[in-house]
Amino acid sequence: MTNLVDPYDRDITYLRVSVTDRCDFRCVYCMAEDMTFLPKKELLSLEEMDRLCSTFVDMGVKKLRLTGGEPLVRRNIMWLIERLSRHLDSGALEELTLTTNASQLTRFAQQLYDYGIRRLNVSLDTLDRDKFKAITRWGNYDKVMAGLDAAKAAGLHIKINAVALRGVNDDEVEKMIAWSHREGWDITFIEVMPMGDVGENRLDQYLPLSMLRGQLQKSYTLTDLPDKTGGPARYVRCEETGGRIGFITPMTHNFCESCNRVRLTCTGMLYMCLGQDDDADLRAPLRQSDDDEPLRETIREAISRKPKGHDFIIDRRNRRPSVSRHMSVTGG
Ligand code: SAM
Ligand code: SF4
Repeated sequence: MTNLVDPYDRDITYLRVSVTDRCDFRCVYCMAEDMTFLPKKELLSLEEMDRLCSTFVDMGVKKLRLTGGEPLVRRNIMWLIERLSRHLDSGALEELTLTTNASQLTRFAQQLYDYGIRRLNVSLDTLDRDKFKAITRWGNYDKVMAGLDAAKAAGLHIKINAVALRGVNDDEVEKMIAWSHREGWDITFIEVMPMGDVGENRLDQYLPLSMLRGQLQKSYTLTDLPDKTGGPARYVRCEETGGRIGFITPMTHNFCESCNRVRLTCTGMLYMCLGQDDDADLRAPLRQSDDDEPLRETIREAISRKPKGHDFIIDRRNRRPSVSRHMSVTGG
């Protein structure tokens, strides 16, 4: 089986799968409070997701990340994770991982470890209970902290992802760095991306990470680290704590040259780029036949259309998102 290579010679080895568009939080930069979710019948079943992911693994994907919405609120999600873990056992898959808000980890952390998951990305934007409520609207801070404890106890490595929000958590970043590094966790800051209408003004939320880095350099000595991940984060070492800080700057830094990933939605749409609208419907060939070949052909054709890069902008005049779908649809 030939592997997936796009027109710019990038090997596609990383698939991110949004297993649900639903979530138990309503983060202000991600969702409107009165979100309309997809009708359940539109969603791929877990069996279909298994078949799709397994086809990608067959075609050379080495890393799978389940995301959402909140992946751990999808009913029976552990069934899918257990199924997918067979590819870890066979060695076809190098990593199976998740991005989560940690709210369900007290229930699931041990099982995740048992199914071969070793690392989790946990999204947490603040260590202040009141701000947590203001940002997530529906989130429960104590549950998240208990979830992090459970993950630690189960032996899972954690990376914290925090969205940098102007006037909200910019006064806390040093505290968050000290906390995560004390725990032995990397922390990565993300710029707000203009995805989906959330009923709030993006320009008010947007904090360029160049400014954040400037602020950090007043308290910390930051040393650039060579880029080894192939991902969009640029890392520095914080000499005072010994830990790593990542910056994901989709708005100000072009990270597309080394992009090795594609994204699948919970309805089976494949997006070749987070910042572009071009997609491919994989649900149709999946449902059309039990034979995987039409599906493979659609995947190959889609990869041949992977664009060179994105062109995110916050449309200042019209204040509209440059990509109309929400992050919870494509998966962060
Ligand atoms: N619910 C899970 C979580 O929060 O980790 C997984 C899905 S969430 C959509 C994935 C990541 O996308 C989170 O780290 C979140 O902070 C980030 N995110 C959501 N909307 C964003 C936006 N408009 N700009 C930048 N990051 C965003
Ligand atoms: Fe839910 Fe994650 Fe979006 Fe927050 S960022 S609303 S936790 S999907």
